[in-house]
This record gives sequence, structure tokens and C-alpha cells, in this order.
Amino acid sequence: MFQPHSAEQLAALAVRAREQEVPLKVLGRGANVLVSDDGFDGVVVRLDHASFRRVERRGSQVDVGAGVDLMPFARACSALGLSGLECMAGIPSTIGGAIRMNAGGRSGEFGNVVKNVRVLRPEGDTETWSKERCGFGYRHCELGDNIVLSAQLELVEDDPAKVRLAFEESFAQKRDSQPLGDRSAGCIFKNPVGRSAGALIDQAGLKGAQWGAARVSERHANFIVARRGATASDVLHLIDLIRERVRSAFSTELEVEIDIWRPMGVRR
Ligand SMILES: Cc1cc2nc3c(=O)[nH]c(=O)nc-3n(C[C@H](O)[C@H](O)[C@H](O)COP(=O)(O)OP(=O)(O)OC[C@H]3O[C@@H](n4cnc5c(N)ncnc54)[C@H](O)[C@@H]3O)c2cc1C
Repeated sequence: MFQPHSAEQLAALAVRAREQEVPLKVLGRGANVLVSDDGFDGVVVRLDHASFRRVERRGSQVDVGAGVDLMPFARACSALGLSGLECMAGIPSTIGGAIRMNAGGRSGEFGNVVKNVRVLRPEGDTETWSKERCGFGYRHCELGDNIVLSAQLELVEDDPAKVRLAFEESFAQKRDSQPLGDRSAGCIFKNPVGRSAGALIDQAGLKGAQWGAARVSERHANFIVARRGATASDVLHLIDLIRERVRSAFSTELEVEIDIWRPMGVRR
């Protein structure tokens, strides 16, 4: 685990890891990651040093570091009347993770407010990518192995009371529909085009299905919640079971949304 103090230090590490063919991954809050019970045999980077947590506002434009926590940041923007991040209420994330995953929901995605993103390439140099180059799509972007260092966001100045209310309403909606108090990695599967993965899992009769200490949430069937003692294998077993049942009931292939980290050469 490496917690760099600067982009220069991170660049030196990235170059060394590349030369020595050691896999390198950035961990945000880990809210979308499942780590294999066998661990991950590479370097894990966390951008939690102050130099990756800077925030600077110029009118409706905000520069924000990749290590900044999304929720408090989005709430603070709302309180200042900066609109655009209300739909991020209830999403546990860093800014880097939100960009990499293009986090969001029905009412919007993080990519919508991005003007450009500063990245560190595996070769050790930095580049600024425009929103268009980032190629944001549904829980997807084109950043590949580049590390997000910071982003420039374009928000909209509005009435603070109105924006704050929209943020809190969005948060309340999330709390009502998702098991936010349980340990999970959010939605396990992407929604197939025009359909809801949660509804398909529910219709396949899998709400409440359990393996070991992992369980398909009763509140939202696209969440697998990990109770005390749950292993990654328990979760992976449920993932296989869900995919198999949904395939045979609806001839639909569910695609995993979470990022699964395994040692090199291990398929599962
Ligand atoms: C209760 C709960 C509710 C959730 N609800 C939603 C929701 O409504 N909508 C939604 O979209 N998601 C949701 N999620 C999933 C998760 O919150 C998002 O995917 C979030 O953006 C992940 O951010 P993170 O910082 O934790 O990233 P991580 O989970 O740590 O990492 C996710 C991926 O991003 C990469 N990454 C992280 N930081 C960087 C960086 N600086 N540069 C390059 N790559 C990086 C990681 O390597 C990994 O591949 C939910 C999760 C939970 C637990």
C-alpha cells in the first residue's frame, strides 16, 4: 500500500511498477471493489494525502483533487448553491472513483459536470483530458490505466436553498430504496439496455438468497450484502448463481459492474 505525498512521487512509483511489471491499482473508498480472498499481488495506491484533496472554486468552476470524498464535497457545493452534484447524494466515493466509474443514477452521472480531468499516465507524465476524450458512458469511461489526479468541474450557480433541498431529497430517495446501512459494493450488475438488473434478479426469485454470510438484499436485489464473516468467495458464488438463474429465466446476460481484484493468474 502506497500513499504518495505528491504527483511526482506517484509518477516515480508508476514508472517503477511498469518497469518491474508489478500491477498497480488505485483504491478510492473501495465502494465498488471486491478483493479476492487470495488478495491482490501488486501495489495499491491511496490518494489520501492533502496534496490530492485540494478544492478551489472560481465562480461556477471548481477544481477538485481525486482523493476528495464525494459526499461531503457534493453537500458543500449544494449548500453554496452550486448545482450539478445533487444526484451524487448517497454514493460513497472519492472524486477519482466517481470519475473512473462515471458514478450516478437515473437523475444524472458524474461525467455531466466534468470539464476536464488531469491524469497521470503509466509512463509517468501528466495530461489533461477533455470531457469528450474521457468518453463517459453508463458506468464507464475511456481512462483505462491512467490515474485521475484531479478534475475541473463546471457547476451551475443557483439558489442555495433550492439546491440543498434537491440534494437532501435525492439522498432520502436513496436511503428508501437501497440498503445504505449494510456493507455492500453497491449495485453488483449493470442494468441491461432498457431493463433493470434488480427487477430481473427479483423476478428470478433471488431476493434474500444466501451463500455463506453473503446475501442478496431484500431491499434492493442488485445489492449483495456482506454480513460478519462473509468472504469474497461467498459473494462470487452468489454472483454466479444470479447470472445463471437470470440467463435461464430471461435469456439475459448480466454484466458485472463492480471491479474484482484478484492475484495475477487467478481467474476467480
Ligand atoms: C451503499 C452503496 C451505494 C452505491 N450507490 C451507487 C450509485 O447510486 N451509483 C453509482 O454509480 N455507484 C454506486 N455505488 C458504487 C460506488 O459508490 C461507486 O462506483 C463509486 O464511484 C466508487 O468510488 P470509490 O472512490 O470507492 O472507488 P473504488 O471502489 O475504490 O474504485 C473503483 C474503481 O475506480 C478506480 N479508481 C479509484 N480511484 C481512481 C483514481 N484516482 N484514478 C483512476 N482510477 C481510480 C479503482 O481502481 C477501481 O477500478 C454504491 C456503493 C455502495 C457501497
